[in-house]
Amino acid sequence: MPTTRNTGSELFDRLAIRPVINACGIYTDLGGSRLSPDVWAAAEAFNGQFVRMTELLDKTGARIAALLGVEAARVTPGAAAAIFLGTAACLAGTDGEKSQQLPDTTGMKSDVLIQAGHRYKYDRQVGMTGAKLVEIGSGNGTRADQLEAAIGNNTAAILHPAHLDGKPGTLALEEVVKIAKARGIPVIVDAAYLNYPTSIMGDFMRRGADLVCISAKYFGGPNAGGFVLGRKALIDAVSNVHFTRYESGKYLKLGRPLKMDRQTVIAVLVALEEWLSLDHTQRFVQYERQVGLLKEKLNGLKGLKLAPKCFTMDERFIDEPVNCLLVTFDKSVAKSASEISQMLEAENPSILAIQEGDKIGFVMDVLEDDEVSHIGERLRALLSTI
Ligand SMILES: *Cc1c(COP(=O)(O)O)cnc(C)c1O
Repeated sequence: MPTTRNTGSELFDRLAIRPVINACGIYTDLGGSRLSPDVWAAAEAFNGQFVRMTELLDKTGARIAALLGVEAARVTPGAAAAIFLGTAACLAGTDGEKSQQLPDTTGMKSDVLIQAGHRYKYDRQVGMTGAKLVEIGSGNGTRADQLEAAIGNNTAAILHPAHLDGKPGTLALEEVVKIAKARGIPVIVDAAYLNYPTSIMGDFMRRGADLVCISAKYFGGPNAGGFVLGRKALIDAVSNVHFTRYESGKYLKLGRPLKMDRQTVIAVLVALEEWLSLDHTQRFVQYERQVGLLKEKLNGLKGLKLAPKCFTMDERFIDEPVNCLLVTFDKSVAKSASEISQMLEAENPSILAIQEGDKIGFVMDVLEDDEVSHIGERLRALLSTI
């Protein structure tokens, strides 16, 4: 049976689960990223040592803020947690009683506005704090006067998903910030995967956001890691709703279930440091080389069209920068792309890739060379037996 570098075969056997060769890219449901040896070593070092979690969160936050050139930051268990904690921070501020009272928002501003065209999966985190998500405008668009008119005494924040910024009909971040600033309403930006070029993370603050939510899964950090950047007062408010000092402090804070391991907190910081110092040109050169490696393994197979492509974070195939091999199966192949994809999935290790219509995209983002070779060999073997 073929093996890969990371199979813990006795564990997989004992649990009767199959390891996955992940040619899909970075997905929470597939475990996020692969931690680099240095990030793993940092987590291991902290495993051997205890620490005051309050101090670790304060100091890693300060370090992240300095690295990204912003006022303040705090590590969270992911971007979804950052949206949740950021929203709660806008409701409770630094008031411990209010943190304890949530999700009952009596006596607090509790409406969080979102443009109708910006509704997306992660806006669900807002409601979990007790806040009410209020849609402004319609699916056709939102005008500035509609947003202005919607802001009232009960408005706590505006949520702005950065990956939808500039969507036709919606107000751009700059326009939202201008309206919000005039009324003293904080703008929470979900920039979960907007981490490259690396300056983009801090730029959301410089463009006027008050809180910016980033996921560590997208920069080689832990699946349950991320951070929120923000103005100092709001990051203090995030601390007020986060998990520490639940037992030792005066208040039973809302964010207690979102607790973190010290190993995870340090891994988020070290992964970010690595990401900032990484030669990203070289990163794309590596993807392209791996695409070449897979292409080479498949060369000469009948009925296949092989096209180097870019599989984007919002799950589209475009031309550049190359990180993926898109294989199109024509009618002369005895099985469809969907059937071939299912056969790859059924293997052990299970090979998962992005199948759409008559195509399968093999994404290199988290693949090792030996896994790329394995995919090529298995695909060749399957196609020669059908
Ligand atoms: C993955 C993702 C999140 C959630 O991030 P986690 O770190 O997994 O909590 C939020 N928003 C967007 C756009 C994402 O892609």
